Amino acid sequence: MSTNATEFDRARAAMPGGVNSPVRAFGSVGTTPRFFVSASGPRVTDVEGRDYVDLVGSWGPAILGHAHPAVVEAVQDAATRGLGFGASTPGETELAEIVEARIARDCMRPIEKLRLVSTGTEATMTAIRLARGATGRDLIVKFAGHYHGHSDGLLAEAGSGVATLAMPGSAGVPAPIAAQTLVVPYNDLDALREVFAARGDDIAAIIVEAAPANMGIVPPALGFNAAIADLAHENGSLLILDEVLTGFRVGPAGWYGIDPVSFTPDLITFGKVIGGGLPLAALGGSAAIMDLLAPLGPVYQAGTLSGNPLAVAAGLATLHHLDAAAYERIDAASHAIADAAASALAAEGVAHVVQRSGNLFSVQFTDTAPTDYETVKAQDAFRYPPFFRAMLEQGVSLPPSVFEAWFVSAAHDDTAISQIIDALPAAARAAAS
Ligand code: PLP
Repeated sequence: MSTNATEFDRARAAMPGGVNSPVRAFGSVGTTPRFFVSASGPRVTDVEGRDYVDLVGSWGPAILGHAHPAVVEAVQDAATRGLGFGASTPGETELAEIVEARIARDCMRPIEKLRLVSTGTEATMTAIRLARGATGRDLIVKFAGHYHGHSDGLLAEAGSGVATLAMPGSAGVPAPIAAQTLVVPYNDLDALREVFAARGDDIAAIIVEAAPANMGIVPPALGFNAAIADLAHENGSLLILDEVLTGFRVGPAGWYGIDPVSFTPDLITFGKVIGGGLPLAALGGSAAIMDLLAPLGPVYQAGTLSGNPLAVAAGLATLHHLDAAAYERIDAASHAIADAAASALAAEGVAHVVQRSGNLFSVQFTDTAPTDYETVKAQDAFRYPPFFRAMLEQGVSLPPSVFEAWFVSAAHDDTAISQIIDALPAAARAAAS
């Protein structure tokens, strides 16, 4: 009979590390990765037939829960009409129109045109090329601990798997390319001002996670996004707001819609939720900037599978079902779980902070709320693996890294929430020992 251990042995013989994305190898939590065979609503089932309440949610896309009937039906229906045409479809335009209408605030509609791509990595990579094409400048500013996918220029001091593996960046990135990226501590306006004072004329764009979630949750300081938008614009640079993770998750208009201080990004990137579980991502902005893309403009971008009809169908069905009631359910469930995690750790005397950005949250093992990558790295990260394993043993699947957010879905019903809450005291005890 197949077990998680036998599957992992087989996978390691056939694939590097046995995985197709590094964090899945469970390297930082010290146990065997689970091999899943099916999922439904808030639950996933492994090859051994064990069920887990899932707080990974496919790393974000499964916001309605796994295999939501309406999304599955939309994909099945699309599949019967053809898996892809390599040509335009009405669904792509419909999706673009929906995104353009949704991303609105204070009468502002920062997205007039949208381009569909297949991954968040492509979305940010293209946004950067576009910013360079629009400004005629080369340098990009990113923040330490932020993750924008794995394109060469964006791996320096990146969050997510790069943070989990404690890598400073990646081998294979030529030094001249790495030199085009200036890395600044997050939430530190003075440091950013210094960089602009020295190199402002050469900076094409600042790229920022709208509310960082790839070093655990580290909320932006009040007004930080607005301040960096101003600084970029004063210097003739663009602001690329990366909403691959937060977009359509923390609210109908993403973080842009709920940031306490209004601001105007030039380009916004999306992924995860927009594809409803299939490979789809996007970037959008004003017509003046977006029309610089080929075929209208000189900035090239293309994709065999861009706007794939199955992915578009899944995205449309997902956005259609993400109404006010769905966000209310996600927000309530996420607050209940976050509060329970904090209480369980407090009861065991474990130093912790549960930071939140909207309905996203993560547990950090420290007394003082981290504000940047340095303070995130200073936490007692060794407490997470036993915490994680105790949850897993009790049938709760958490992200296998302390540097990742916990993803709650609209399908997390009272039974699922109770199972998570009931598992937390034992996990807190494990973290304490
Ligand atoms: N940007 C952010 C904020 C992300 O969280 C991610 C992935 O986690 C990406 C970009 C890259 O997206 P993808 O993994 O689809 O390439």
